[in-house]
Amino acid sequence: MAGKKVKAVALMSGGLDSTLAVKLVEQQGIEVVGVNFKTPFFGPSKAKAAAERLGVELIVLDITGDHMEIVKHPKHGYGRFMNPCIDCHAYMVRRAGEVMREVGASFIITGEVLGERPKSQNPQALKIVERDSGYEGHILRPLSAKLLEPTIPEKEGVVDREKLLDIQGRSRKRQFELAKEVGITEYPSPAGGCLLTDPVFSGRLRQLFKEKPDADEGDVELQKVGRHFEGEDGSFIVVGRNEAENDRLLALAGEGDLLLEAKDIPGPVTLLRGTSSQNELRAAAALTARYGKARSLERVEVWRWRAGEEAREIEAVDYPPEAYTIEGHESAIPLVKPRKPGP
Ligand code: SF4
Repeated sequence: MAGKKVKAVALMSGGLDSTLAVKLVEQQGIEVVGVNFKTPFFGPSKAKAAAERLGVELIVLDITGDHMEIVKHPKHGYGRFMNPCIDCHAYMVRRAGEVMREVGASFIITGEVLGERPKSQNPQALKIVERDSGYEGHILRPLSAKLLEPTIPEKEGVVDREKLLDIQGRSRKRQFELAKEVGITEYPSPAGGCLLTDPVFSGRLRQLFKEKPDADEGDVELQKVGRHFEGEDGSFIVVGRNEAENDRLLALAGEGDLLLEAKDIPGPVTLLRGTSSQNELRAAAALTARYGKARSLERVEVWRWRAGEEAREIEAVDYPPEAYTIEGHESAIPLVKPRKPGP
C-alpha cells in the first residue's frame, strides 16, 4: 500500500452518525467517497449538504426501479411502517460495493450503530445486510466496530481498529460528544428523511399496492399530494391543498385522468382517476368547490377536462357547497368518502 492513498466508500445519509463515521476514517488518513441514493421515497439533499460540509465527493445513484421492487416485496419484511430497512440497506451496500470497485476503494463504511434501531441495527440484521449485499467482511461500521467482528481492512491493517469506537444503544450522548470533539456543529435531526417511515404516507402506499400491484413511480408520486377521496365505484380523487400541489397534480395527470378547477374563482385543482361516471364527476366538482373560495357560493361552475386535451366542459355544482360539508373525517358529499389508508 506504500505511496498509494487508501480509499473507502461511505454510505452517507447526511445524518450525524454517517458524518462521524466518515470523520473517524478520514482521521486515519483514508480518503472517503460518499454514496447516496434517489428514489420517490427519499433523496440526496441532506447527504449533499453533509458532503459539502465535509469536503467529500458524493456520488448519487437513482435506484427508483430496483427500490420500488424492494418496497413491494421485501425479503425480510417491513419495519414499523412501509420501511423495508434490512432489504433496503443490503441493496444500498451492494450498490456502494459496486462504486467501491469502480473508484478503486478497499472497503465500505456506514454510520450504523449497534442497537440504535432495534429492528434493523441488531447483530443479526447487520449480518444479514452483509450477507445479502455480497460484501461480507468489507463493511466497516466505525462507530461500533470494536463490538463487531474485525473486518478485512482491520485484519489487513488498512484501518487501525484501536482508533475505532464501541458505541451501542439508542442514547446518542457519545455521538454528540464526539461531534463536539471533531468540530461538527451542523447536522440534521435523525428523524425524517424517508417517507417510508411516515405513518400517513405508508398507509396510502399500502392501499395503493393493494389496489394496483403494478403501481409505478407516477402512482407513488400521487400519494404524496393533496387530500384523497374515494368514489363509490372505487375511483380515486385527489384535491390539491396549495398552488404547488395544484401544479404537481397537473404534471402527474396521465392519460384518462380528468382534471377539474372552479371557473374564475381561486381554489384547488382536482384529479379524478378511474371513472367517467356522472356521480363521481359531480362529487369531484363538489370537492373542487368545497375546498376553494367558491365554498360560500350557491352555484359554482367547475371546469372539467381530460389530461392532455384542450377541450373543457362545465360541471355546475348547483346547491350550496355547505351541503357537502365534511365533518371531522366523515364526508357528507354523496357518493364520495375520504380514502382510508390501508391497515
Ligand atoms: S429508513 Fe428508509 S431509506 Fe433508511 S433503510 Fe429504511 S427504508 Fe431504507
